[in-house]
Amino acid sequence: MVRETVDQITLGEVTITRVWEYYGPVGMTPEQFFPETSPRTWEDNSSWLAPQFLDPETGIVNSAIQTWLLRSEGRTILVDTGVGNHRYRPYAPVWSYLDTGYLGNLARAGVRPEDVDLVVNTHLHIDHVGWNTFQDDRAWVPTFPNATYLMPKPDFDFWNPANDHKSVFGRGNQNVFEDSVLPVHEAGLTLLWDDSYQIDANLRLDLAPGHTPGSSVLTLLSGADRAVFVGDMMHNPVQFVEPDVNSCFCEDPAAARASRAKVFGWAADNNALVIPAHLGGHGAAEVIREGSGFAVKGWAPFAPYSEDI
Ligand SMILES: [Zn+2]
Repeated sequence: MVRETVDQITLGEVTITRVWEYYGPVGMTPEQFFPETSPRTWEDNSSWLAPQFLDPETGIVNSAIQTWLLRSEGRTILVDTGVGNHRYRPYAPVWSYLDTGYLGNLARAGVRPEDVDLVVNTHLHIDHVGWNTFQDDRAWVPTFPNATYLMPKPDFDFWNPANDHKSVFGRGNQNVFEDSVLPVHEAGLTLLWDDSYQIDANLRLDLAPGHTPGSSVLTLLSGADRAVFVGDMMHNPVQFVEPDVNSCFCEDPAAARASRAKVFGWAADNNALVIPAHLGGHGAAEVIREGSGFAVKGWAPFAPYSEDI
């Protein structure tokens, strides 16, 4: 049986646990995923990107879908909720009708759905809101009935189909608002925030737009420890080395570059752990400034994905 592992670290008074939903290829070559890169970029960095971030056999990018589970001031907080099960995703077939053991992985981390106090959706893309809800008979209902779901208002407005915004994602987010966002909003569980939101003494949300209009980062300041959960500000560590490189899913390339430079620069200058949504391997890294970009100073001690555990 395939079972995913979880791992936990403590920063200041906050524990951070990794909860897997998926790890592996997402069907894109580096050039498709990151059109601004050259083959040379991948060749030059393949020695440290392979195999966790780049499959040396196929040349395909490997990615993780995971939730960062935080415990802070006695509350249980989920940062991003993956793709979810049993969803029809006509324009993103790789995520259609998944049947993963995500809730079991969450249970192994000691969390039942009713225990969750806060859900943070860093933005409202298909792979960040999925477990907000589950299918109960014919209805999509909140998975975490006692939680407040923190959503950036600019993304709530942008992805609301009633507003008919055009996206570089095309129709890739089809059905997502309807089955993963609206049900929790109509249940009265959402808190739509804008600009900045202080969660508690350790955790603060700030907009960092570019990838989407409401993309946000969660900053952890506790004791002497620092971390920043950057969501989809990056999808592959090659973007530490070349921080101007966007993914093909970034709505506003210039804003995405500016947000990346600002947040990575802050992290480098403050010894903050950078914790993106989609890195496999050790999942997070401290970085230093190097040349026109950054370099990995050290990886977090999170266990890489293993099918043997
Ligand atoms: Zn994502």
